[in-house]
Amino acid sequence: MAAEKGRRKFLIQSFKALAGLPLAGSILNACVPETKKVIPGKLKGPDFKAGHLLRKALSVVPTQTETKDVVIIGGGISGLSAACWLKQNSDQDFCLLELEEETGGNSRGGKNAHTVFPWGAHYLPLPNNDLTELLAFLQENEVITGFNAAGLPIYRDECLCFDPEERLYINGHWQEGLVPNWGVPEADLKQINRFLELMAEMKQAKGTDGKFAFTIPISASSADENFRRLDKLTMAEWLIQNKLTSDYLHWYVNYCCRDDFGTDAKDTSAWAGIHYFAGRKAQAANTDPDRVLTWPEGNNWLAQRLRKPLEKHIRTGKLVYKVSLVKGNVAIDYLDIAQNTYHRILAGKCILATPQFVNERILNIQPEQGGNRNYKAFSYAPWAVANLALESPPAGRGVPLSWDNVVYGSKSLGYVLANHQQLQIYPENPVITFYLPLPDEDPAKARRMAYEKKQEDWAELILAELEKAHPFIRENVKNLDVWIWGHGMIRPSVGFIWGEEKAAAEKPVLDKIFFAHTDLSGISIFEEAFYQGIRAAQRMVEGKA
Ligand SMILES: Cc1cc2nc3c(=O)[nH]c(=O)nc-3n(C[C@H](O)[C@H](O)[C@H](O)COP(=O)(O)OP(=O)(O)OC[C@H]3O[C@@H](n4cnc5c(N)ncnc54)[C@H](O)[C@@H]3O)c2cc1C
Repeated sequence: MAAEKGRRKFLIQSFKALAGLPLAGSILNACVPETKKVIPGKLKGPDFKAGHLLRKALSVVPTQTETKDVVIIGGGISGLSAACWLKQNSDQDFCLLELEEETGGNSRGGKNAHTVFPWGAHYLPLPNNDLTELLAFLQENEVITGFNAAGLPIYRDECLCFDPEERLYINGHWQEGLVPNWGVPEADLKQINRFLELMAEMKQAKGTDGKFAFTIPISASSADENFRRLDKLTMAEWLIQNKLTSDYLHWYVNYCCRDDFGTDAKDTSAWAGIHYFAGRKAQAANTDPDRVLTWPEGNNWLAQRLRKPLEKHIRTGKLVYKVSLVKGNVAIDYLDIAQNTYHRILAGKCILATPQFVNERILNIQPEQGGNRNYKAFSYAPWAVANLALESPPAGRGVPLSWDNVVYGSKSLGYVLANHQQLQIYPENPVITFYLPLPDEDPAKARRMAYEKKQEDWAELILAELEKAHPFIRENVKNLDVWIWGHGMIRPSVGFIWGEEKAAAEKPVLDKIFFAHTDLSGISIFEEAFYQGIRAAQRMVEGKA
């Protein structure tokens, strides 16, 4: 996150840090009470019944039929943006079918009596200035309030993450920024600096075709093999090849891979790993280019804005279980979960804004018609996200509570303060959102293990992570709910970003069925999901490649 700023803060602070190591906070552990407080809460997640219902429904042929020009399946960011584009640019009669009771997909949010909070995606880095549709959407929703004389966007202050933005708990102290510097030896600091310089070069690097080596959307990046071949090794291997061996640096790069991909550096394509640092090149009139946009409910704020003009078109609680071709039309069969009734829509065209692991189950197309797709190449990292309602903001030595709070050496990504953007200096009912990717070479195993755990197991695991920085946090927690994302993020493993399988999966079927999901980009980020939705809708209506 915010690699450029990381570098600047890192340079300023590394000399401060060398001034002296603080005392470790471990003596505080001696004061922890002996009987453990049990933390109440619930286990949540996307509709667990869906898999079972899918199997049950597969053989049912619905008797109720209606017709539409277009059906969009999936109400995540990609489906919603496809629908918005369609509404603004065509007169097609369409509807969007979403399995859950709420739209938003991985950008879902929740609330308690005091505040809203994210359950998944929680920030949008300032988008690159050539993402014109995304900038227009942000302007329509007053996130961008205008453009200066040089054409740079002016962002609304309330949407820009307030200071203090990020801190890292390292060597017993909260330092500013996430690039390790507090108490970090000189030799490691040099390596970290060299790495950040290399990433700054990669940001500006262009291929022989004149395109940026790393950009967003990923598909607009250079085809130059000098860069694309980085997809054939892991990020960890790339570091070693470049004689970057510092443990502190490896921790930081690993943290970044987990943050954007849910994978460790040893399982992440080096092309994707470098893209994390080099793909973003935003410029703004009124803020650092590396600042992020965020809201108390995270990116659900954006999902709600996408949904707003679409109310008439959206149907939630509808599980699509079969998509097939019937007499020149696309037949979309779905189960109305609340009514337990089966329906068919005969549509001229259809957009599947669902991940490929879902398409594998619902798409019923003969191989010669384009149904022969290699889904095995698509693998997904599971995640656990917890929202903890606290009595009071967590305390600590060093930089004060920030929006993003990370613990060096932790398996987790730390937590964000949901109340951060609410203009309260000392929130009375704070909620922190804790992020735990579950990386494993075998994601199916990690998924199984995640589904087996109960709320109390997660609570203990999460508290153990938090106690590394906040020894007394257990007494401070009023409630801890956990959400399991079994297929949270597409894993950009070696060879996937520029592999044939991904390219083949986005090809439309007979100019009738189109595909839009962030997994078709190879990485899970808002900008790519938004782009995938618009690209699919444009292709469908205008025949654009
Ligand atoms: C824990 C977590 C944190 C994240 N944090 C960030 C972040 O901070 N910033 C960021 O940019 N990105 C983040 N992401 C990535 C996020 O996934 C993308 O930004 C984006 O939300 C993906 O949108 P999508 O539409 O491509 O996919 P999805 O969100 O997967 O949407 C697919 C939709 O299809 C629906 N669906 C599935 N099957 C069916 C069916 N059979 N019938 C009908 N509907 C169906 C689903 O319910 C879902 O609503 C995060 C992801 C996770 C898991």
